Amino acid sequence: MKPWLGEAEVAAVAETIRSGWVAQGPRVADFERRLAERVGAASGVAVSSCTTGLHLALHALGIGAGDEVVVPSLSFIATANAPRYVGAAPVFADVDPVTQNLTVETIEAVVSPATRAVIIVHQIGMPADLAGISSFCRQRNLTVIEDAACAIGSTYQGSAIGSHSDVVVFSFHPRKVLTTGEGGMIMTSGEELGERMRRLRQHGMSMSAFDRHESSRVAIEEYVEMGFNFRMTDVQAAIGLVQLEKLTEMVERRRELADEYRGKLGVVAGLQLPADPPYGTTNFQSYAVILRDGFPVSRDHLMEIMLEQGISTRRGVMAAHREPAFAGFPHTNLPVTELVTDTSIILPLFHEMSSSDLDRVVRCITDAAGG
Ligand SMILES: *Cc1c(COP(=O)(O)O)cnc(C)c1O
Repeated sequence: MKPWLGEAEVAAVAETIRSGWVAQGPRVADFERRLAERVGAASGVAVSSCTTGLHLALHALGIGAGDEVVVPSLSFIATANAPRYVGAAPVFADVDPVTQNLTVETIEAVVSPATRAVIIVHQIGMPADLAGISSFCRQRNLTVIEDAACAIGSTYQGSAIGSHSDVVVFSFHPRKVLTTGEGGMIMTSGEELGERMRRLRQHGMSMSAFDRHESSRVAIEEYVEMGFNFRMTDVQAAIGLVQLEKLTEMVERRRELADEYRGKLGVVAGLQLPADPPYGTTNFQSYAVILRDGFPVSRDHLMEIMLEQGISTRRGVMAAHREPAFAGFPHTNLPVTELVTDTSIILPLFHEMSSSDLDRVVRCITDAAGG
């Protein structure tokens, strides 16, 4: 992955610095409004990362000690860490072998009377099948939180990810499609919840520093409750506003490149390629291919062969339950998670990638596959 940044982002940052206001201020507010409008959410709460956004949301929802939160193990480790920050226990559920996402069945297998919430991940941009999971959760009074770190620009049943649940969290890390360096945003339809999260991200302050400076009267803020410093800066938001203008083009380009991969790798035996699910579209934030039994070399060996030719790859999505940080956490068998994490490889895909770059990757794989 290589972020698509240019002179417009440079100019926006320069202008922000010249304005003299670099911390959370008008650009953050503007970025929140525009992204909420773009994805069809009631409002956005910008934060310093998706990780702090998940932490903030769980805290604001009152989830804590004694509570269980269902999460996929097959995800970046931040998903499973989030419940731990508030003293709750992450409970790992397995995933679907094609979408690599949670399903009603895998969630149902691990819910208990202590379960309070489910964190659904749209893994590497592939939308999860939300409707069934949401109605299952509604029936059991479980809160749905979408970890949409990877899913900006993906859609579910014709509408943008970000518009479906009360709490949806995006990431703007450079590894994702839209970047602000570091950063994240919680999309929420809950007005009170949004207000509270806005207060909690700024130390529990009753008014923001910007509002205080703007006020024509002396304003003395109050610290209503214990909060955090999870703020995004106006420098980051300035980059985000430019990136947001490019979002459509960025997703289109990724989908074109993914089509090209499919056309050229579809003939190789033993490869499972990613594709849109019947109910939505992916932004192809990452292009992860699964090596099946028929593929003649192992995943790790293929990564070595490609690296020798100067082609960078990544292992597929990690499995949190196997990491030392989660040693001793009880979990059910997670056979699909383990198979997917051991056999998937993420191929190069970035906005400025050319067809000849892509052909070089394809040639390397077809050679390894034996011609
Ligand atoms: C990247 C990622 C995160 C963490 O996002 P940050 O903004 O870096 O904190 C969380 N969950 C998933 C699924 C991710 O891919």
